[in-house]
Amino acid sequence: MSGNPPFYCPFCGDENLFPHGEKHGQWECRACRRVFEVRFIGLLGSGEHVGGN
Ligand SMILES: [Zn+2]
Repeated sequence: MSGNPPFYCPFCGDENLFPHGEKHGQWECRACRRVFEVRFIGLLGSGEHVGGN
């Protein structure tokens, strides 16, 4: 893991994110000072439509 989150804050849209604590998947936004967690939930099923067709 590189340590740089490939996303922006879902609350304020800032990219000023840093790892929070020692638990993987937690990030802190230093623009709005929110701390949030990003976690893997699952995969789309093979029969799902992804995007328009
Ligand atoms: Zn933020």
